[in-house]
Amino acid sequence: MEILAHPNPALKQRAQDVEHFGDRELKSLVTTMARAMYDAPGVGLAATQVGVLKRVIVYDIDEGLVALCNPRIVESSGETEFFEEGCLSLPGIEVSVERAPSLTCEACDIDGSPVIIQAEGLLARVLQHELDHLDGVLIIDRATPEERRAAIRRYNEVVHTFG
Ligand SMILES: [Zn+2]
Repeated sequence: MEILAHPNPALKQRAQDVEHFGDRELKSLVTTMARAMYDAPGVGLAATQVGVLKRVIVYDIDEGLVALCNPRIVESSGETEFFEEGCLSLPGIEVSVERAPSLTCEACDIDGSPVIIQAEGLLARVLQHELDHLDGVLIIDRATPEERRAAIRRYNEVVHTFG
């Protein structure tokens, strides 16, 4: 399955909660997303990025594949930090994004069992990035107006260069 790229309108949509767990549809969505993420390659992917408006994310920060449904950040702490982020839906550019360095995320696994994740560093950043996708928010939306304009200009040049 193809990963949607900006400015595809689906990337601006808010995804809906998963209500049916453990069925074939959800499992096949997660398999498709994992394949697309590893092929890219990337460390995380939200269902929104394959055009499915469900609150599902996958990630693998070299600790194995994790799939989460209906993830939400219930607590974040520490002094926010800026770091350059890339996005599979904005190939070729990076944007400096301010994020919390540590957080607690509550979610369900694909069978509907509750999961609590204490995250910091890269994982905290990946979770905030992917949860943004579920709300239709991209890294360029996190930038200042000036940075956003510059990033979109670079993005359009890259897209133009590579067709
Ligand atoms: Zn992204």
